[in-house]
Amino acid sequence: MNADIRYSIVIPVYNEEAVIDQTYQRLKQVMDSTREPYELIFVNDGSCDHTTALIKGFRNKDDAVKLISFSRNFGHQIAITAGMDYALGAAVVVIDADLQDPPELILDMIAKWKEGYYVVYAKRTKRKGETFFKKQTARLFYRILKASTDIEIPTDTGDFRLLDRRVCEEMKRLPEKNRYVRGLVSWVGFRQTAVEYERDERLAGETKYPLKKMIKLSLDGLTSFSFKPLKMANYAGVGLIFFGFIYLAVMLFLKITTAYVISGWNLVIAMQLVLTGILLTMMGIIGEYIGRIYDEARDRPLYIVSECYGMMRKERNVKKVVYDVKKSS
Ligand code: UDP
Ligand code: MG
Repeated sequence: MNADIRYSIVIPVYNEEAVIDQTYQRLKQVMDSTREPYELIFVNDGSCDHTTALIKGFRNKDDAVKLISFSRNFGHQIAITAGMDYALGAAVVVIDADLQDPPELILDMIAKWKEGYYVVYAKRTKRKGETFFKKQTARLFYRILKASTDIEIPTDTGDFRLLDRRVCEEMKRLPEKNRYVRGLVSWVGFRQTAVEYERDERLAGETKYPLKKMIKLSLDGLTSFSFKPLKMANYAGVGLIFFGFIYLAVMLFLKITTAYVISGWNLVIAMQLVLTGILLTMMGIIGEYIGRIYDEARDRPLYIVSECYGMMRKERNVKKVVYDVKKSS
């Protein structure tokens, strides 16, 4: 019967007792309207309030509700990953538990999926009820990320999105620990499209993303998809060397054409610029190598085959993971 599941909704929850009931009701309403079999996978990321008990309550009355509980708080991105790993549906939707992402949009996503898209992500045109600081830092971060990476990571999208089973399977092959899931989904490729929406306020409770977690997420995003930070030493080094030589040239020019006398400290500055520049450039070169080591260590599959004609598709890097999807109460 599990094989019949058409849609899996993955909902990461961390201390969401204030909203979880409404979230469940709205999701149920929306998903019932599809008239197709679905599952609601709640991933409890180490909540220490009544969230777990409430979800178990839903489960008692509703077979579609499933629960994965973590032993402690592992973080939002890992919770989403676990949900995707356990999901059985032909399409998997990831949605926040706080109703900032309107469940009704799932129907639009499903429509796009039926048109043949493999990933449908929700793009925020507006963000209500979030602080000026959060909006601006998020805006800035998405722009920096876009400028510093070669893959197309859409701006102003969170993790609210639909993934086809195919994409979900590919995601399972990405073994990295510091995950920036929305970037990985872009990296996987296939036909992707957006649906737009206005992000609502959190229905109740507080954000579970304090500044510290936001910084960690941004760093994961940047370092997973760009070597630019490692290359910064290189740029700075070359810049300094260039500066040092100009400085020297100007002094020499003045000495030749005028009565200017090169003083000791001027020479020291010039040498300092050049030497620091050389040092930084060397560090940059080391950075380039570390970057490559990092690339290898990350161990992402080298490519993802979308279709094969006249030959069998082969998998690289497949790790067989057997999940116990038996009903757990
Ligand atoms: N969340 C989680 N683990 C965490 C932090 C958050 O599972 O360590 C969940 C949270 O319950 C919510 C979603 O991730 O469903 C997004 O968190 P939140 O709404 O607090 O983030 P914001 O919308 O403020 O960025
Ligand atoms: Mg939220």
